Amino acid sequence: MLPDNCPFCPGSSEIDSSLDVQIIPNRFPPYTLSAGGGTPPFSIPAYGVSEIVIESLNHNTDFSEFGLEHALKVVRTTLERMRQLQEDPKIKYVHFFRNRGRSGGVSITHPHSQIFALPFVPPRIAKETEHLNGHRCALCKANTLPDHAERVVLSRGEVVVYVPYAPRTPYELIIQPTHTRYLWDLGSAQSVDLVYALLLALKLLDRTLGDETVYTLTFHNSPKEAEDFHAHVELIPVITDRRRVRFSRGLERSSGSYLLDTLPEDKAHELRTNLEELVRINLS
Ligand SMILES: [Zn+2]
Ligand SMILES: [Zn+2]
Ligand SMILES: [Zn+2]
Repeated sequence: MLPDNCPFCPGSSEIDSSLDVQIIPNRFPPYTLSAGGGTPPFSIPAYGVSEIVIESLNHNTDFSEFGLEHALKVVRTTLERMRQLQEDPKIKYVHFFRNRGRSGGVSITHPHSQIFALPFVPPRIAKETEHLNGHRCALCKANTLPDHAERVVLSRGEVVVYVPYAPRTPYELIIQPTHTRYLWDLGSAQSVDLVYALLLALKLLDRTLGDETVYTLTFHNSPKEAEDFHAHVELIPVITDRRRVRFSRGLERSSGSYLLDTLPEDKAHELRTNLEELVRINLS
């Protein structure tokens, strides 16, 4: 499809054609610095910042096709902006996500992702904060479980990519660096390993689930006011093919619990097998 009238392509008044990675205001911002109102305790003003990361000037590339250097630039630019945004004392958490696929909620196909600086800590992050601190950190502990290797898909330096013990969808992946509160605090070598692992994981999902896997990618950093946290990346594929997986949306919607008929160890094994093929093709 030609990128007619794409607001994120060069030529659009919102885009600086001299920058191959840029962050622009969201045209339809759910959170703004001028927000007022709210009825505590039911609602608070939607104070915050809503921005779009334009990951490339090229409409028809996908993040998974970026070279390592460009992907690293996109991630570093994003993380630096997130770090800046959380300096506002009224901001409690800066959230990032990237969707792929129209059924994943994407309305514009130009490669982009979203940043929301929020006046609250989202419930999932608050829940994670209870479990990802200090010597009780569940992510660090996952690495030491005797059968962890069965769930690991790949590793690069100190970065490990694995199917979590209790995934919400089959093929869900955690990309886990060493215990650090914020991804922007990772050393340069580990940042490179993280982005390398992310690119490989995205290619691997496409190889396993079909060319245009629908997914949500998110960076989870520490809430500002938390004592500790283990920053990580989550890659959550959206699988709607009932031949591939049976699931109970009713249970999920009504209780917040997930029910899968697959074992994380089996999915990790499948992904490892596909990774071997992927590497063989890339080398041959
Ligand atoms: Zn475009
Ligand atoms: Zn940890
Ligand atoms: Zn998380």
